[in-house]
Amino acid sequence: MAKVKYIMHQCAYCRRETKMEFIGGQPSDANGTEASKIWYRCCKCKHSALLTLSPESQTKKKRAMPIDRNQCTPYAKDKVFSVGENIYHSEWDDVGKVIRKDRMSNGEPSIIVTFEKFGERKLLENIVE
Ligand SMILES: [Zn+2]
Repeated sequence: MAKVKYIMHQCAYCRRETKMEFIGGQPSDANGTEASKIWYRCCKCKHSALLTLSPESQTKKKRAMPIDRNQCTPYAKDKVFSVGENIYHSEWDDVGKVIRKDRMSNGEPSIIVTFEKFGERKLLENIVE
């Protein structure tokens, strides 16, 4: 027997986020194409509620938002970038998001960027020549 599953959900009776205990229902199929209807019971007021868990939220996570080129900072190695910043690499004609900061093996500062076409790349930053 699987462990009891809990989720945090807005209880219609308590009118606040409460811990809801899973009591029955079918989870959505592997494709995640159909919304799943699952019974949960509020741990506070003990009311049961049929919750429809839409697969939309999962779909959104999978499909990353396209990066708007006009909102990007043009990449240049003498600039300093911040994590989460969108950048445009003119040589590669590609856009990407800074996911973290790192250092090159020689100690020079660098950024790790996930590009739409080129994937994850390490680029120099803050290089003054
Ligand atoms: Zn409740």
